[in-house]
Amino acid sequence: MRTFRGYTLSFLLASFASFVLDMIYFNEQHRCVLCGRTLYREHQKEDNLILLDKVCLFCQLKLLQVDILPARRSLVVQGRQVPVFAAFPYHGFLPEVIRSWKYDSALGLTDWLVSPLLPFIEKQLPCSFDMIVPVPTTNQRITARGYQQTEVLAYALSKKIRRPVVSLLSKQSIQAESQTGKNKAERMDAIQHAIQVVFPERLQKRRLLLVDDVVTTGSTMAACAKELLNVGAQSVMGVAIAYVP
Ligand SMILES: [Zn+2]
Repeated sequence: MRTFRGYTLSFLLASFASFVLDMIYFNEQHRCVLCGRTLYREHQKEDNLILLDKVCLFCQLKLLQVDILPARRSLVVQGRQVPVFAAFPYHGFLPEVIRSWKYDSALGLTDWLVSPLLPFIEKQLPCSFDMIVPVPTTNQRITARGYQQTEVLAYALSKKIRRPVVSLLSKQSIQAESQTGKNKAERMDAIQHAIQVVFPERLQKRRLLLVDDVVTTGSTMAACAKELLNVGAQSVMGVAIAYVP
């Protein structure tokens, strides 16, 4: 599906229309993207504490208290090590933040979510990858949300670490009902079949950094790494915002 830095054309047009309306009706009230409290622009302007646009002070204080406990895992794919790094444990307030960001267009939080990954990438993975590859989402989900969230993450990282984003993977939807009664190996197999490399010629002998939002068992990341290594990637490593401890 065609996206522009992770966004669909209809999402960009809707955002532009809302921006124009906002300029016309300047006093329109906004709501906090996390809790829905009304935000008053005058207060926002006066208050130096504001760190993020469209997030109320209550939620900003909660964001300041979110745990950052970086963790590194190692997946073994085709007998090769695929290190995966994630910054936040998926508990407390964070799942709520990620839900709003992933499903409710709270995209002003992208840089905040990406920022704890940067020191690790710069110190521990310098020059060890050539391009950033978003973990794919199905077209149905991209259409429903208006954006491909891992591509949005990948571009936010790319801006900071100056590596290109190349969307090399696609994902077909897996029918939920077809998964019931299947064991772990069969479900893994279904994930593997759903993921495909779109431009194999672009990754030959390249070192790739896979980007995902939340790593649970690591099976999606492993399935992506397997496909990429199978068609000629030199190495694959992964980063995610959060991990399920
Ligand atoms: Zn709030």
